[in-house]
Amino acid sequence: MKTIAIIAHNGKKAEMVQFLNEYRNVLESKEIRLISTGTTGSKAETAGFEVEKLLSGPLGGDAQIASRLAEGKVDMVIFFRDPMDKHPHEPDIFMLMRLCDVHNIPLATNPATAKLLIEAF
Ligand code: PGA
Repeated sequence: MKTIAIIAHNGKKAEMVQFLNEYRNVLESKEIRLISTGTTGSKAETAGFEVEKLLSGPLGGDAQIASRLAEGKVDMVIFFRDPMDKHPHEPDIFMLMRLCDVHNIPLATNPATAKLLIEAF
């Protein structure tokens, strides 16, 4: 069983849903478990995916995912960041990305990279 964390900033949520739909056959397999920040998870649920929702990003959701990752409980992070917007939880976002590098966890920050990772998974 592999755990994939999905996170999308508001300007990228539509792209995340599109990505999830495109890879539904892989992501809905019994071998894969999805966890997410709150609002991203709600969008994924609306699209028909089963996902464990943590707090919304600005309320600590990214930090929760970072914490699980540090404990070895996350195998991949798909994080569609919006580079055109400011985020009150910037420190949490950097912490999550830093911990991906500390623990050598694959991190995709845009759909092109996410596709390559999922296809390799
Ligand atoms: P959200 O959080 O899924 O709750 O919107 C994402 C984020 O802003 O990091």
